[in-house]
Amino acid sequence: MQTSNQPSELTSQEWHSLSEQEVANRLGSSKEAGLTTDLANQRLEQFGPNELTGKKAKPLWLKFLQQFNQPLILILLVAGAVKAFLEEWPNAWVIWGVTIINAIIGFLQEWKAEGAIAALSKSVTTEATLIREGNKRRISSTELVPGDLVLLNSGDKVPADLRLIHVRNLQIDESGLTGESVPVEKNSATLNPETALAERINMAYAGGLVTFGQARGLVVATGNNTETGKISQLIDQRTNLTTPLTRKFDKFSKVWMILVLGLGALTVAVAFHNAYNNEALETFRNVQPSIAGALEAAIALIVSAIPEGLPAVVTVTLAVGVNRMARRHAIVRKLPAVETLGGATVICSDKTGTLTENQMTVQEIHAGGQKYFVTGQGYAAEGEISFNDSPVDFQQNPILLECLRAGLLCNDSHIEEKEGNLVVVGDPTEGALIVAANKAGLTQDAIAEELPKRDVIPFESEFQYMATLHDTPNGPTIYVKGSVESLLKRCTQIFDSQGEVISLDADALHEEVESMAEKGLRVLAFAKKSINPGRQNIDRPDIDEGLIFMGLQGMIDPPRPEAIAAVAACQNAGIQVKMITGDHATTAAAIARRMGMEKNGQVQAFTGTQIGEMDDQTLANNLEDSVVFARVAPEQKLRLVEALQARGEIVAMTGDGVNDAPALKQADVGIAMGGAGTEVAKESADMILTDDNFASIEAAVEEGRTVYSNLVKAISFILPVNLGESMTVLLSVLLGRPLPIEALQILWLNMINSITMTVPLSFEPKSPRVMEKSPRNPSESLLSRDRIKRIAIIAIYNWIVIFGMFEWSLRTYPDHPEPLALARTIAVQSLVSGRIFYLLSISQLLPNLIAKMKGTLNSKVGASAIVAGIIGAIVLQILFSQVPLLNRIFQTAPLNLTQWLICLAVGLPMIPVALLVNRLDPPN
Ligand code: ADP
Ligand code: MG
Repeated sequence: MQTSNQPSELTSQEWHSLSEQEVANRLGSSKEAGLTTDLANQRLEQFGPNELTGKKAKPLWLKFLQQFNQPLILILLVAGAVKAFLEEWPNAWVIWGVTIINAIIGFLQEWKAEGAIAALSKSVTTEATLIREGNKRRISSTELVPGDLVLLNSGDKVPADLRLIHVRNLQIDESGLTGESVPVEKNSATLNPETALAERINMAYAGGLVTFGQARGLVVATGNNTETGKISQLIDQRTNLTTPLTRKFDKFSKVWMILVLGLGALTVAVAFHNAYNNEALETFRNVQPSIAGALEAAIALIVSAIPEGLPAVVTVTLAVGVNRMARRHAIVRKLPAVETLGGATVICSDKTGTLTENQMTVQEIHAGGQKYFVTGQGYAAEGEISFNDSPVDFQQNPILLECLRAGLLCNDSHIEEKEGNLVVVGDPTEGALIVAANKAGLTQDAIAEELPKRDVIPFESEFQYMATLHDTPNGPTIYVKGSVESLLKRCTQIFDSQGEVISLDADALHEEVESMAEKGLRVLAFAKKSINPGRQNIDRPDIDEGLIFMGLQGMIDPPRPEAIAAVAACQNAGIQVKMITGDHATTAAAIARRMGMEKNGQVQAFTGTQIGEMDDQTLANNLEDSVVFARVAPEQKLRLVEALQARGEIVAMTGDGVNDAPALKQADVGIAMGGAGTEVAKESADMILTDDNFASIEAAVEEGRTVYSNLVKAISFILPVNLGESMTVLLSVLLGRPLPIEALQILWLNMINSITMTVPLSFEPKSPRVMEKSPRNPSESLLSRDRIKRIAIIAIYNWIVIFGMFEWSLRTYPDHPEPLALARTIAVQSLVSGRIFYLLSISQLLPNLIAKMKGTLNSKVGASAIVAGIIGAIVLQILFSQVPLLNRIFQTAPLNLTQWLICLAVGLPMIPVALLVNRLDPPN
């Protein structure tokens, strides 16, 4: 006996050569009702979740080794080798140790950041629509099993391998699997068994993107058994961790390497010269010039010039940004978005659902030439329809009833109770129509029996209408709903209040629409048409003409209060907000006004048609002041993005539909909706909003700006120490003085001390003023002129401290047993002392503390990382000079209390210097 869930039966390779019915039989499923729930559960256990598990990442050891492949690290490795050559083994090992520590940090950070991004993208689950036991449901696509009957719609990602059975104009982009970049037209005809994979037009393969049309399909393979699964072991799903900024760093470090090597060579030359020309050294007897000494100086210089701690800090900062954005409902899919967001100058946002609540309620109906008002709120069927201020008598108003009925029939959604709330499953626009009809006593169940649905042409924003075919006592009838424009051009007639067909006065209708739209109502138009008896399905040409207009329903969709606040915050931050919508221009402008989106006191709106008529120059001129773009077709979105970018703007753009993909890719930051967005949009986006809310975009911009400012702080903090050290080494060599600081001590400063004190900068809270500044200039270099001055001033200060304290100590403590070690220790400790004050001067800690005391800060001070960093640095410095083992490794000498206090005091002048540079180049 054969059972339908026998694995061998379910793993045929030839589904395309079987007829629809055979496929259904073999899978134990039905073309109408799908699987039974029991069988589906049983198969889920048998086949496991519909997920790709196999992925062949780079081996970890290779990733680790790659960390060494950086110019600056390579130099360090060589420096270590030179020390080894000189048989200074402890030195060699410490230098090599530093490179290893560096590689470990880099490796761990990369690993964590990749993991975080991968986990976040996973948290955005893909859903699939299917039919089980005859009921339509939406489930997570991981729960699909062979035999499931899946519904595909344009914008969906094909969730598993499917044998298509009910195809309507379906086109699928299968480039991921076949490399063919043009979407493939599908149908359900049975094919020859030999047909090649790319030509199996009756199949849809997992990972394909539906770019057009609809279909049903029976799942024939899931997870790793799918065609994509078979090859995806080869697809590297690694997230790319480079960003424009890290690329700039890489370029910078190459130039820097050449410079450092040149200076190193110069140092060797000068030191050699000194070694054979002893006069200059007469003054100090401790120095024994030698080849070793020359190399020692060169290595000290090289080591001092390399900001060893910087790469670690950059990765941590970006990763912290990704996490903070996720906490605020913005999931970053591509790391560069973190950085780019902070620089956004224009945000183009969808209206419905992003700026507004997507909670629609019908308030006005216009039918049979008469106007009706509807009371009530939300999706509860409470409220009534009135005419001339009194409850309407439906028997006397047949066209009103027919218009409401049309809203109920031409509908793919329903209302459900979830956790005590009424929610729309499907499109909120359609939900509102159901509720309006409910208020007249019409229900979906009753009407489905009375006027059974035979066929559907679903809504696509490209066409702006939806149509359904029903059997009625008067023969098959098509009900259509859509935008006023799309319906009016298909109608010449209209019903009067008693149901007589008269000719249509388009001007009067437009006036009516305007008056509704001015109140911010979203207006839907309704029409119907009888067709030949016996028809069971319809196509777009059937509704090209001859529709009879029935009426209008106008619904409110209130702005999201938090989006209003976010729009204001963006405007304050010098970021323009533009609304892009498929809705009517007047409606969109009314909502924009309500959201405070005026520019120069007015809301300038353009329609897609108007944009289409503009040449690029006119469009560019109009972009500056326009706020609303209405009735925009998706391909016009792309044009808008390009026009804005041509003006030098950094554009963030939202999108949800399948046709938005090109615009999302073109935008500097493409943002897809996690809830309402299609899979195609999500795949193309740099960032996904889990709550579809405009306020989350604003939050992400805030975090992006904070990331950038924290990176700048880290650079401003690290570089002056490197420069100060290099200047010291270079000058001492030129003057023929002993080195005030040795290579290993420099490494201690650059690694241990820098990382302890700089990583906290990655966790800096955002400045309360982060959204008060204009966006940074996109062409601005990381090292602006003022920032270079800042770094130079602090570097000179550092040089004076190291060089000065060293020479001072040599003269003050000539009888110390190890005068050089003591002088160097004092020099290092004095430098760190100044560094602590410098850190405080650029951190958000003090400004936030002050704001908290004044009561102007209502969030947490949030600077515990900085405090921990400073305490950590102090403890490490004490160990550095007081622990005998570290004395031996790092050639340091213990300090007494007086010497400690002197070091501390030498740090104090940093305070006025830091205040001065803060004026030049404000850190926050
Ligand atoms: P947006 O999402 O920007 O509001 P849409 O493309 O969804 O724009 O809608 C454009 C127009 O299409 C709406 O103004 C409305 O007239 C019409 N429309 C919207 N949803 C539906 C639907 N489900 N069925 C029929 N027409 C619709
Ligand atoms: Mg929409």
